[in-house]
Amino acid sequence: MKTVTGPTDRVVVIGAGLAGLSCALRLAGAGREVTLLERDGIPGGRAGRITDSGYTFDNGPTVLTMPSLVDEALGAVGESLNDWLDLMPLNPAYRTYFPDGSQLDVYSDTDRMAEEIALECGPAEAAAYRDYVGYLRRLYEVEFGDFIDRNIDHPWNLITPNLFRLVGMGGFLRLDRKVRQYLTDPRTVRALSFQAMYAGVSPLKAMALYGVISYMDSVAGVSVPRGGMHEIPVAMAGAATKHGVDIRYDTEVAAIEHSGGRASAVITTEGDRIAADVVVVNADLPVAYRDLLGVDKWSLRRLKYSPSAFVMLAGAKAEYPAIAHHNIHFGRSWRGTFEEIIDRGEVMSDPSFMVTCLSKDDPSLAPPGRHAYYILFPTPNTDAGIDWQTETPRYREHVLDTMERAGYRGFADSIEVEHITTPLEWQQRGMAAGAPFAAAHTFMQTGPFRAGNLWGENVVFTGSNTQPGVGVPMVLVSGRLAAERIVSR
Ligand SMILES: Cc1cc2nc3c(=O)[nH]c(=O)nc-3n(C[C@H](O)[C@H](O)[C@H](O)COP(=O)(O)OP(=O)(O)OC[C@H]3O[C@@H](n4cnc5c(N)ncnc54)[C@H](O)[C@@H]3O)c2cc1C
Repeated sequence: MKTVTGPTDRVVVIGAGLAGLSCALRLAGAGREVTLLERDGIPGGRAGRITDSGYTFDNGPTVLTMPSLVDEALGAVGESLNDWLDLMPLNPAYRTYFPDGSQLDVYSDTDRMAEEIALECGPAEAAAYRDYVGYLRRLYEVEFGDFIDRNIDHPWNLITPNLFRLVGMGGFLRLDRKVRQYLTDPRTVRALSFQAMYAGVSPLKAMALYGVISYMDSVAGVSVPRGGMHEIPVAMAGAATKHGVDIRYDTEVAAIEHSGGRASAVITTEGDRIAADVVVVNADLPVAYRDLLGVDKWSLRRLKYSPSAFVMLAGAKAEYPAIAHHNIHFGRSWRGTFEEIIDRGEVMSDPSFMVTCLSKDDPSLAPPGRHAYYILFPTPNTDAGIDWQTETPRYREHVLDTMERAGYRGFADSIEVEHITTPLEWQQRGMAAGAPFAAAHTFMQTGPFRAGNLWGENVVFTGSNTQPGVGVPMVLVSGRLAAERIVSR
């Protein structure tokens, strides 16, 4: 494995996103002097929080999978998840709604889920589901250690017995085709393959190996910390500070000072110079190359980004007892929706969307008798050229009309506070192409083909635009992989 060269005693980490925090914890645990500079006033980056009039909203991830990875990061400084977070498993993980009026709850417990499928879709589909779960489990076992959880310097590092197993399992076939080898009901197909969108790829075009996301999510289980997802970076930052990491909020880095491929310091927008033996960059990779390093990397100009999202956070009087914590509403269109968002750069004409009721399992997130809602409509990213400044009011109406028709009666009139984030705002917050889900996980942007995490002699990247990729579990791993570039020598 390639590592940084030279001394590694003083490390400056730029960004207290989950990846930066994961890396900082590992470095502190390995005895490095770590200074963490964060532009915002709070940790978490995309896993942020907005509070308004008694409501508390997560404004990024709402689905926590693989919490053991949070525990591992805390474990690097001898702390444990249970001492910092109160995790609530979500059962069901999702409630899915279909245009024919039917519903399917997604449970991570295989027996319970099989019962649910048997009731809704019949016993043959339930048996097929069990077989598909077996396939997903094998996929996870084959993939995680060799292809996700380690630094991969060269494509030939991929050549392991597990690569041949993956080929044999049809990992390089289309995900949709693989799912349909098992499942036949369009509802189970959707409920167990939409997760490819988390990696920015349509399930119709993704490779079957991305079924591993469905495994981590709908099989391994979904939970949420009491207090919301933002409690995760709060815990990680708390543990990092306790173990000596010097976190400086409201401190934006303007440049990384470097010469001949060797970084020597970072310069803040206030003009302060902080010397470093190694610089870890959690700022979005393409933006950091351009703005912080001043390096024009040709391969980054050709990146294909994931779709973006229109996110509405709404504090409302309305209550819908029949909904679950996470609710996914599928439109009639399936293939057409992906073509619109990904291929044609258009907003969905027949929307599929997610409504999360943040306060459903934790009433402390809203005033008494009120609820905190998080509504996410996938959209094209800013490369599509939609003018969100003019489009936002119209799209807001469209979102509220769609919700009304989906059964959220009277929602619009019951809203007390509201915060909207469009692709334009994601871009203004420093995300290339306004894509909060980073570069899409196409084959040529995955594994060793994804932007590497080492630059020059002593600059290391971490986060969703480097390896292994996007999502809370992946960026937590990414933080560890970055730390290994520094301490594994
Ligand atoms: C709306 C939305 C929904 C999502 N849903 C889920 C989900 O349900 N489940 C899931 O697993 N994942 C989800 N994700 C993805 C997941 O949140 C991200 O992949 C992950 O949080 C990214 O973490 P990161 O550390 O790579 O980057 P970031 O969180 O972007 O962290 C980068 C940090 O660097 C800081 N920074 C940037 N530039 C500078 C600078 N110049 N100086 C100082 N600091 C700087 C930023 O302020 C930020 O704090 C979602 C993301 C979004 C936005």
